[in-house]
Amino acid sequence: MNENKYPVIVVGSGAGGAMAAYVLTKAGHKVLMLEAGRDYDPKTETPMFKTNGEAPLMGSGNVDKDFGFYDATVDGGWSVPGEPYTTGEDSEFLWWRARMLGGRTNHWGRYSLRFSEHDFKGKSRDGLGADWPFEYHELAPWYDKTESLVGVCGTNTGLDDMPDSSEGVLQPPPKPRVPELLVAAAAKKLGIPTAPMHRAVLTRAKDDRQACFYATPCGHGCSIGAAFQTTTSLIPMAKATGNLKVVTDAMVKNVTVDDQGKVTGVTYIDKNSHEEVSLQAKVVILAASACESARIMMNSKSKHHPKGLANSSGQLGRNIMDSTGTGLGAFIPSLAGRPKYNEDGHTANHLFIPWWGHKAHANNELDFPRGYHFEISSGFKQPGSGVSSGLQGYGSSLKQQVKDKYGAFVYLSLRGEMLPNEHCYMEIDEDVKDKWGIPVAKFHWKWSKHELNQVEHGLKTAKEILETMGATINHPLPSAEKAILKGGQIIHEVGSTRMGASPKDSVTNQWGQTWDCDNLFVMDAGVFASNPHKNCTLTIMTLAMRNASWLSEQMKKGAL
Ligand SMILES: Cc1cc2nc3c(=O)[nH]c(=O)nc-3n(C[C@H](O)[C@H](O)[C@H](O)COP(=O)(O)OP(=O)(O)OC[C@H]3O[C@@H](n4cnc5c(N)ncnc54)[C@H](O)[C@@H]3O)c2cc1C
Ligand code: SF4
Repeated sequence: MNENKYPVIVVGSGAGGAMAAYVLTKAGHKVLMLEAGRDYDPKTETPMFKTNGEAPLMGSGNVDKDFGFYDATVDGGWSVPGEPYTTGEDSEFLWWRARMLGGRTNHWGRYSLRFSEHDFKGKSRDGLGADWPFEYHELAPWYDKTESLVGVCGTNTGLDDMPDSSEGVLQPPPKPRVPELLVAAAAKKLGIPTAPMHRAVLTRAKDDRQACFYATPCGHGCSIGAAFQTTTSLIPMAKATGNLKVVTDAMVKNVTVDDQGKVTGVTYIDKNSHEEVSLQAKVVILAASACESARIMMNSKSKHHPKGLANSSGQLGRNIMDSTGTGLGAFIPSLAGRPKYNEDGHTANHLFIPWWGHKAHANNELDFPRGYHFEISSGFKQPGSGVSSGLQGYGSSLKQQVKDKYGAFVYLSLRGEMLPNEHCYMEIDEDVKDKWGIPVAKFHWKWSKHELNQVEHGLKTAKEILETMGATINHPLPSAEKAILKGGQIIHEVGSTRMGASPKDSVTNQWGQTWDCDNLFVMDAGVFASNPHKNCTLTIMTLAMRNASWLSEQMKKGAL
């Protein structure tokens, strides 16, 4: 590769960027990947076998480490030193950013549910939000390929909310835990299904990655490659082709264009030397995460792109959606005093509650338009500082209570679909720059009644399920306004560069190619036209795989 001119530059090494780089390098294209974070090797850096007892505060979360001391993050989190963001008046928005090779795939929960036919065409059904510019059946073969490559465990259920994978694609799931079986029995009485969670965790060895041995907390990170992250799979595999060069500590500032407004490359700040470096490329792929890619585009104004790069539609930075989030937990007496044994499996849901309300929606029986699911927390996890919370006493009686109640608490976390609204968007804060001199993002946020009604329904349903399991919940349920988590807090932010069928109301076409610049692509969740209740990353990777394959064909044909 000419040191200053590259066929393809990919910005970001997380779910979208690493998949794009993998597909293109496998197809023979030379790719330069620019990553703002530092180099990171989970094989040597993961505190996988550390116990909570070895950590400060028994490993519990604090302001800097919300998900616990061992959160598999070497740099970044809810705040990144020297790289602030701002929020508008009356807006609360949380933005989790990882600054490390592999991005947030180093610590994601690995829940990997397919969107369905229903999910891609919400607007056609109820007139709200936007449809995607393709049908489910067009993406289905790419979901199969992504699930096979990444390694996803789960089973086909035939439920309308969970499209089946092709035969032999999914790896076997771990067996349900006792508390999850109790949830399943209670839910069944209420006409609500449960299903094995699909997770990007290997239960059978694959490539040079080991199968999960069901013994360490996934939140610490996974040095054996069982839990999917780009740093133990896609990036090394792309490097092995000889076609990938990775530059870390490279903070991309803007995308450059020529006199005709065509993309020519990028400028980045070398975080070690603080120097500005300009590189040229035939094609630039932004995959810096939904809001970072939009920020780069907004910071790339020019004569031809006065409102920000590729923003002739005015939709850049608009339509931001997160998942709704809330939850309810309770002590289940029949689970108390169980003999203790290892029921960890991989340390997240083995069963979950998919959305069961498609018919109720069709019959207009619900006062909110889109669905949600429940993730179930339970079981004999590695005890932390919260193991005795809510208990009274001291000495041997407290010890006995801890032993009896350990593993008898069940928590249902709601994750639901949000609709885009005019109050949820981002722009550039012209008054604030980060330590690299780059203007920062400013977020605006407001939930609508659609999300609040959905959360109210979810809390009532969770209470019913827990009470059917034998729980006593004496306290009144909180209002939806109080219970709903903040915008961005579920870390499923999408939609800032949405795709569509027309350049009038979308930023990219169905291939992630911007309408205004044919050699600029977005391959992260910015392109999502809607945000179904299912966690977004499997679809980020599937779209990146499909769209990078299309890009490769165009390059081979000489169209780009
Ligand atoms: C604790 C946690 C749990 C989660 N659980 C789940 C889950 O169970 N299921 C699910 O589907 N999703 C989950 N997610 C969300 C998931 O991690 C993200 O959706 C996914 O990683 C996004 O992929 P991405 O490629 O868009 O961005 P990222 O993975 O964030 O990668 C973007 C990369 O770009 C780099 N970058 C940013 N700006 C620049 C710049 N200017 N120049 C150069 N590089 C830049 C970043 O450093 C980063 O490495 C979770 C996230 C967290 C934090
Ligand atoms: S439980 Fe399995 S997937 Fe999770 S960290 Fe341990 S080996 Fe990895």
